[in-house]
Amino acid sequence: MARCRGCGKEIIFVKSPAGKFIPCDPSKVIFSRPGEGKARVVKLNGEVISCTIGTGDDISEAVGVGYIPHWSTCKAANQFRKKKESPLQGTLF
Ligand SMILES: [Zn+2]
Repeated sequence: MARCRGCGKEIIFVKSPAGKFIPCDPSKVIFSRPGEGKARVVKLNGEVISCTIGTGDDISEAVGVGYIPHWSTCKAANQFRKKKESPLQGTLF
């Protein structure tokens, strides 16, 4: 299994319909209310949708399972952002 270069956690890659590989957390989640909500989930076919993670109050609202994109849970994601904003690091890119 691959590991994130930022935080060292295990990640998997889900292939999107466009052929891109999206780094995701390896555990699947149930999601509900596709098209609504702030959370992003990568469906098993690689499609990224906005939705609500979990089912809310009613288990029957669950519409599928997917993966959480790693960039939304990665502890190092903030560090990456800070580095990019730093003037010293900025000169390297
Ligand atoms: Zn990470």
